[in-house]
Amino acid sequence: MNALIQHIEKKGMPVIWQFVSACLMLNSFILPFLYRNQDVVYSLLQIAAPPFIVGLYVAYNAHKEKSIPRLVLVGGVAIVGIGASLHNLIYFKFPVSTHFVLVFEEVGMILIAIFAYIHMLMFEKKFNIKGLAIDFSLLVISGLFVFLLVSPNAFHTLFYLFDFDQQLLVFNLIIGCTILCMSVIHYLFTKSIGLTDGIRTLLTMLLIIHFSFEMWLSFEQDNNPILINTLSRSTLYLAGALSIAFVFLEKMSLDYSSIAPTRLGNLFMWVSSIFAIMAIPLGLVIRSTLDAPYLDLFIVGMTSILLSSIVIWRIIIIIKNSNQQKKRLNSLMQTSSLTGLPNYQGYLEQLTFSELKNILVIHINVEDFKSINDLYGRNAGDEVLKSLGQRLKQLPKSLLVAHIHSDQFLVTFHCKKPDIKELIETIQKDLGIWDTLHGKWIAVPLTIGASHSDEILNPEKLAKQAELALKKARKEHSSFALYSEEKTNHQIPRHELRQILQQSVDDDYLPVHFQPIYDLKDGTLKSLELLIRVDSKEHGLLLPRQFLEQAKSYALLTSLTQICIKMIAKHSHELGDITINVNLPPYMLKSAKLLKNFIQLFEDEKLDPKRFCIEITEDEEISAHELIPAIKTLREQGFSIAMDDFGTGYSSLDRLSVLEVDTVKIDRSILLTAETGNTTILEWAISLTKRLGVSVVVEGVETLEQLSLIKLLGADSVQGFLYSKPVPAFQIKDIALNSNDIEVS
Ligand code: C2E
Ligand code: CA
Ligand code: CA
Repeated sequence: MNALIQHIEKKGMPVIWQFVSACLMLNSFILPFLYRNQDVVYSLLQIAAPPFIVGLYVAYNAHKEKSIPRLVLVGGVAIVGIGASLHNLIYFKFPVSTHFVLVFEEVGMILIAIFAYIHMLMFEKKFNIKGLAIDFSLLVISGLFVFLLVSPNAFHTLFYLFDFDQQLLVFNLIIGCTILCMSVIHYLFTKSIGLTDGIRTLLTMLLIIHFSFEMWLSFEQDNNPILINTLSRSTLYLAGALSIAFVFLEKMSLDYSSIAPTRLGNLFMWVSSIFAIMAIPLGLVIRSTLDAPYLDLFIVGMTSILLSSIVIWRIIIIIKNSNQQKKRLNSLMQTSSLTGLPNYQGYLEQLTFSELKNILVIHINVEDFKSINDLYGRNAGDEVLKSLGQRLKQLPKSLLVAHIHSDQFLVTFHCKKPDIKELIETIQKDLGIWDTLHGKWIAVPLTIGASHSDEILNPEKLAKQAELALKKARKEHSSFALYSEEKTNHQIPRHELRQILQQSVDDDYLPVHFQPIYDLKDGTLKSLELLIRVDSKEHGLLLPRQFLEQAKSYALLTSLTQICIKMIAKHSHELGDITINVNLPPYMLKSAKLLKNFIQLFEDEKLDPKRFCIEITEDEEISAHELIPAIKTLREQGFSIAMDDFGTGYSSLDRLSVLEVDTVKIDRSILLTAETGNTTILEWAISLTKRLGVSVVVEGVETLEQLSLIKLLGADSVQGFLYSKPVPAFQIKDIALNSNDIEVS
C-alpha cells in the first residue's frame, strides 16, 4: 500500500485529480437540479461521456508512465462512460439488462472514488491534516446518495423501490462496499483515529449499518418490516446527530474565518452548519406529517453534501496556504536572516534591469569587521550590519541593497560613469563612522569594488565584476577599485610572461624603482625601498603583482633578486650612501644555500651590508621560528632587519615576539582602518612596537590627515605617495635633494 502511494506521490496526477473532483462535484450538485427533466439528464450524460473519456485518456497519456491508480481511474471512467451509453440504450428500449448496466456503471464510480480517495490520503499525509480522506468519503457517499435519489438511475431505483424490487439491493450493496473499501484504506494508511476523525468514521459506519438494514428490508419485506425499518431509521438519525456533533466539533477546532477567509466562504460555512442541524428534525416532521417517506433521506443526503463541501473548502484553503507558504519559503531563502535584506539569490532574483542603463553595482566589504565583534560584542556587530544595510538603502539613487555575506553588501545604483567617484566618496565618508552604538562611535571602514555598465548587462556578471574589483582594491590596500576590462582582466598570458621574465634575466637588467622613507622627527630621508619592476616592449613597465607569483613558480625569483642587487651597484652613483631596503621573500631565508648566495652577492658587488635593510614579508606557510637562524646570520653580516606588512597576517605578533628586528613596517590596511575612526589597532601596533625598542614605519600614507594621525600616535617614519611614488634610479637625486622641503612638523 505504501509503495503504491509513494509511487503516486512521485508521479503525481494533479490534472486528473482535478478532473475527477470536478466530475464528482458535477454528479453531486448539478444532477439534482436536472432530475425533473429526464431527457435533459440523459442527453447530458450522453454528451458528457465521450469527452469525459477522451479528456481522461489525454491526461493519462500526458503522464507517459503508467501506474496502477491511473489504470484504476481510466478503467473506472471508461466503465462509467460505457455504462451511461448503455443506459441510454435502455432508455430507448434496447434489450439490455438493466441490472447489468447499473452494476457496470456503479463499479466504474467506485473505481473513480477509490482513486480519488487515495489522492485524499496523500493530501492528508502531505499537509498533515487528519480526517480529510474520511471527509471525502462522506462526500462520495452523499454524491451516491443523491444520485440514488434524484438521478435518472435513482429514479428507476425509486420506481423499483416502491415495488421493493431487488434494484435497491444493488445500490445499497454498492454504497456499502464503497464505504467499506474507503474505511479499510483509511485505516491501513493512518493506523490511528483522532477525535473528530472518530466521529466521522462512526458516522460512516452508521450509514453503512443503515444501508445494511435497508438491504435487509428489501429482502425481508414480509417478516418484520416495521422493526427493521425502525432500526434503519434510527441509525440514520444517529448518523444525523453525529453530523451535528461533527459540525460543532469542527467549528470548535477550526475557526471558519481561517478555513474560509472570504465573507462568502464564511456565510457558506454557517448556512451548511445550520442546515445540518435542521436536517434531522425537519426530516422527522416531514416523515410524520407528510406522506413523503423518502424525503428525509433526501435531506440527510443534502446535509452530507453540505458537510462534505466543507472538505472541498478545506482543500482549496490548504492549496492556497501551501502556495503562500511556498512563496514565503522562497522569499525566506532569498533573504538575509540578520538584516532582512535580499541575499545574493535575492539580488539575482529581484534585480531586473529591464530598460535601465547606467547601472553601478558595488560590492562593499566592512574591513576588519571581526574587531567590531571582538571589541563591542556580537550584538553590536549585528546592529552595525543592520544599520549599515538601512543606511545604504536610504542612499539616493540606490536601487537594491543586498546583504550577501556576513560583512559584505551588494548595492545597485542608477549612476552615470563620471559620478561614480563622488558617490563612492560619499558612501565612504558618510557611512565610514557613526555613533549608533549607545553613544559610542564606531568606525566602519568600507572597501568597495565597483562595476559599471552603460548598457544592459546581466546582474550576475556585474556582481562578479564588482567582486573582482573588490579583490583588487584589497590586494592593493586601496579603499576603492572600479572594474575595468583592461586592467583587471588584462593578464599577460603565462607563456608570454615567462618569456619576458627570461629575457630580463638574460639581459641581466631590471628597471628597479625606489621609494623614499622619511624620518618623521626631522623630515630627513631615512632610506629607500627598492621595488622591483620588469620591462616589456608589449605591456610597458610591469608591477610586482603582475609577475612576482609566476617568477617564483618558474624559479626565476632568485635570479631576479640577484639582478636587483646588481642594479643597486650599478646605480651606486645616484644612490650615494643612503640605506637601501631590499624585499626578501621568507622562502629564500629558509634555504641555507639561497641565503648564502644572497650574502655572497653583496660581497661580489662590493656592497657593504651595513647599508642594507632586509624587509621580510609576511608568509603564512613559514613560521617565525624557522626564520630565526637566517635572521641571526644576516644580522651577523651587518644587515639590519625590517618586518614588512605588519598587521596583515595572523603571524605578525608571533614574528614580533620571536624575531629580533630593527624596524616594523605597518601595513597600509591598518592605516585605512584607523583613518575611519577605529584607531585601536594602529595605536596598539605602534605602542607595542615602540615598547620593544623597535622603529616604526607607516606605509601607504597618501593624505595629510593620515600623516597627522600617525604623528599623533608616535610613528617614527613614513613611506607613501604623499611624499613620493616609487621612482626610477635617475630621479633619486631630486628626492634626496628635496627631502628637507617636506613638511613634517
Ligand atoms: P611592499 O613591500 O609593501 O611595498 C610597498 C608597496 O606599496 C609598493 O608597491 C608601493 O608602490 C606601494 N605604495 C607605497 N606607498 C603607497 C601609497 O601611499 N599608497 C598606495 N596605494 N601604495 C603605496 P609595489 O611596488 O607594487 O610592490 C608591491 C609588493 O611587491 C611589495 O609590497 C613587495 O611585497 C613586493 N616587492 C616589490 N619589490 C620586490 C622585490 O624586489 N623583491 C621581492 N621579493 N618582492 C618585492
Ligand atoms: Ca616592502
Ligand atoms: Ca609593506
